[in-house]
Amino acid sequence: MVGGGISGLACAWGLQKGGRDVLVLEAASRAGGTIGTARTDGYLVEAGPNSTLDTTPLIGALLDQLGIAGLRIDAAPAARNRYILQQGQLRALPLSPAAFLATPLFSAGAKLRLLREPFIGRSPAAADESVAAFVRRRLGAEFLDRAINPFVAGVYAGDPERLSVRAAFPKLHQLEQKHGSLILGQLLGARARARDPEKSKQSAAMFAFRDGMQTLTDALARRLRRVEAGAEALSVQPGDGGFLVRSRGPGGLGEFHARAVVLALPAYAAATLTAPFAPRAAAALGAIPYPPVAVAASAYRKGTLARELDGFGFLVPQREGRRILGTIFSSTLFAGRAPDGFDLLTTFAGGMRQPALAQGSDAEIAEAVQAEHADILGAPPHAEFMQVRRWPRAIPQYTLGHLARIAQIEEAERDLPGLFFCANYRGGVSIGDCIRSAAGTAEQAGAFLRGA
Ligand SMILES: Cc1cc2nc3c(=O)[nH]c(=O)nc-3n(C[C@H](O)[C@H](O)[C@H](O)COP(=O)(O)OP(=O)(O)OC[C@H]3O[C@@H](n4cnc5c(N)ncnc54)[C@H](O)[C@@H]3O)c2cc1C
Repeated sequence: MVGGGISGLACAWGLQKGGRDVLVLEAASRAGGTIGTARTDGYLVEAGPNSTLDTTPLIGALLDQLGIAGLRIDAAPAARNRYILQQGQLRALPLSPAAFLATPLFSAGAKLRLLREPFIGRSPAAADESVAAFVRRRLGAEFLDRAINPFVAGVYAGDPERLSVRAAFPKLHQLEQKHGSLILGQLLGARARARDPEKSKQSAAMFAFRDGMQTLTDALARRLRRVEAGAEALSVQPGDGGFLVRSRGPGGLGEFHARAVVLALPAYAAATLTAPFAPRAAAALGAIPYPPVAVAASAYRKGTLARELDGFGFLVPQREGRRILGTIFSSTLFAGRAPDGFDLLTTFAGGMRQPALAQGSDAEIAEAVQAEHADILGAPPHAEFMQVRRWPRAIPQYTLGHLARIAQIEEAERDLPGLFFCANYRGGVSIGDCIRSAAGTAEQAGAFLRGA
């Protein structure tokens, strides 16, 4: 296994459970990849994900196997409230049909426009349409600008004009293809969805761990027999009956022969390793964009903000012209995130929308976040606590052409039996998606090793 983020660790776990001898090579000094938690001055600060959604029964099963189900904590009921910034005001996303009719978030014209949605034809099944074009066509421009644009920033730090709807939101594409309408599809599919153990992201419970998301990757790393942290894979060479992997680790250079290799790496890192023997797959991997994202954890004394932090947080549409993508009300969501008397916020900046903002200095990012919080939340000009973490290449973008790129990767897997690619550029970016993809890859690699 090359790469020890959640994808590599969960895949290695699946293989180890199946009786396989798995070595995980992880370049960083600690396994976990994007997932990382630190306690600083009494605040629980997440470098990457703050929470995830219980979208698949595989998550619960994994937590049970690792003995960490008791450390899981569910989001507070207030997490149902989500806000969108509109002309400087936080507007609640409507949670019922009546609230939808009453919300000032969308104009009467945009609401009426929805009545037409069931009568709008399907796009050709094979068409690669952007998320923006899809939403404009089916729901209208206002939904794109006021709801989908900020939502896409929240999930992918992405740009709906560039993301492929088939690749980035396959369930939306399938709803259209199957029912000819998103609205009818939602209504007609309700019963089937209720029976399905796999949950949609709208209905799945949100959770974290008492001591932060790193609980999950730490538990995996502890239970795996062979994890070498600080060991960077330098090359992978296909040869007779397997692969030769060269690495540089704390003990110097290493060489390993493996019958199968799973590359559980960011696409750009997998591109470097595969370029010598699978140039088409490497070119496809190298073409997957990863915008920079900055994450700022900031805290204020309770009662010093002009509004209550009574929800998950807020997202910012591009047309608002702000310097942040959105903010999570972290200490409202989960207990134990901040010392008594303080509120902790987690704010994201940059992404495809404003990459340069995430490349500024920590001080510039902190200044932008504080200024936006002062304006939007009525926060004091200076936070009591501030910590900035920058991800130069944060989240893979499933842009137009993504599925053709994945097809190139699948071709390399067919051409080189025993080589597998498993990471968040494939099958979804959320932790639950990574766990599901990892289970699938573990099964395929296990079958390959059995000679099945
Ligand atoms: C800021 C941010 C916020 C997020 N928020 C959420 C959220 O709230 N909820 C959610 O579900 N998801 C969230 N995500 C997404 C989710 O965290 C990631 O998609 C997921 O953790 C990626 O896991 P991975 O194992 O596929 O990749 P990574 O975590 O990137 O792991 C890849 C690993 O490969 C290693 N590596 C690279 N090169 C080599 C080499 N040559 N040799 C050996 N090792 C190498 C890296 O060091 C890394 O550890 C967020 C992501 C980011 C960046």
